[in-house]
Amino acid sequence: VLQARNLAKAFGSNVVLRDIDVDIRRGQVVALIGPSGSGKTTVLRSLNGLEVPDAGTVTFGGTESEGGLSIDFGKKVGKKEIAALRDRSAMVFQHYNLFPHMTVLKNVVEGPVQVQKRPRAEAIAEAERLLERVGLADKRDAYPFELSGGQQQRVGIVRALALKPQLLLFDEPTSALDPELVGDVLGVIKELAEEGWTMVIVTHELAFARHVADEVIFMDGGVVVERGPAAEVLSSPTQERTKLFVKRLQ
Ligand code: ATP
Repeated sequence: VLQARNLAKAFGSNVVLRDIDVDIRRGQVVALIGPSGSGKTTVLRSLNGLEVPDAGTVTFGGTESEGGLSIDFGKKVGKKEIAALRDRSAMVFQHYNLFPHMTVLKNVVEGPVQVQKRPRAEAIAEAERLLERVGLADKRDAYPFELSGGQQQRVGIVRALALKPQLLLFDEPTSALDPELVGDVLGVIKELAEEGWTMVIVTHELAFARHVADEVIFMDGGVVVERGPAAEVLSSPTQERTKLFVKRLQ
């Protein structure tokens, strides 16, 4: 579904990504792991245009009518292209990023109605179905501050699903949660994986990655150090840096 090639990004003199390639097949779950500051979040944000790389390409497969799209960041990239790229995927953020002044339901229907111009009644029905699914049907009229972190993150996931993206991107979705709330959110993500959603998850939860991801990409210092089937990379890594990282987190 997605192919990224030679992504590069620097913030001033700080080179954050060098020549990053990412391939994601339909239905695949890819876990992006690595030390703090290695560039994982920047890769994720580059895949959906929240960050604009300095160079490299991002391609969504298929014809244009099937959602195909190709962007070359080495050339000048217009707002329209970035908007098209954003439309292909949906991000679940570490700190939920819900709109604080909107109810749960409004948070979920805002994107489909305002950005995607879908009929409001249809968007509401879909939002209610998705909220029910994650056990939050009774919270539709609550505001984010009235919810626990775990509940807010489940709303964050529902908000992403409501956009019906080709690709779901999770940026450390459980790292801001109290330990007892982590399981619920990981459970929802696991169900989505089993349902066949295509997703990239930046995570420090290696046990979860091993359990849910098809492929693991280990980054360090802005490069991909090692990638492969989750069980292989996490259980018998070939690179020294991966070995050290995996050992430290286990
Ligand atoms: P973490 O696990 O801590 O989230 P990460 O692997 O996701 O780390 P990134 O968040 O991608 O790493 O950050 C990589 C580097 O880029 C860091 O040195 C960070 O300070 C820098 N960086 C990220 N975003 C910006 C920005 N908007 N402006 C300047 N520097 C940034």
